[in-house]
Amino acid sequence: MTPEILYQDFILRHFKNPQNYGILESPTIEAVQENPVCGDEITLQVKIENNLISDIKFQGKGCAISIASASMMTEQVKGLDLKNVQSLIESFRELLLAKKPDDRNLGDLERFAAVKKFPIRIKCALLAWLALEDCLPTD
Ligand code: ZN
Repeated sequence: MTPEILYQDFILRHFKNPQNYGILESPTIEAVQENPVCGDEITLQVKIENNLISDIKFQGKGCAISIASASMMTEQVKGLDLKNVQSLIESFRELLLAKKPDDRNLGDLERFAAVKKFPIRIKCALLAWLALEDCLPTD
């Protein structure tokens, strides 16, 4: 069974032309996340200044969902302060994992709710977000 989400325009658009793809000159922190089941691997580099994400880039290989999710995630969090980044991570995780997600409007990110029908793909969609969480200060 092929997840139809793979063929949705927004996935293909980001997969073919990922945003914020590359290497940062001087990242504050970086993290790697792997999803061996699918063969996805994401390296995320984050620059944190004045308590917000001033720059962010990722590199990696993987399925369309993992790359598209990473691309959209970097677009959403660039320029965002760390508190809002943390709450966005939580809302996105709820969107994918909770039976009843919160009411927050996540815009384009809500389209990833389609992967719920394909539980094996949930990790693909979450991968970059887990890497982002690894990059946040834990205090
Ligand atoms: Zn994948």
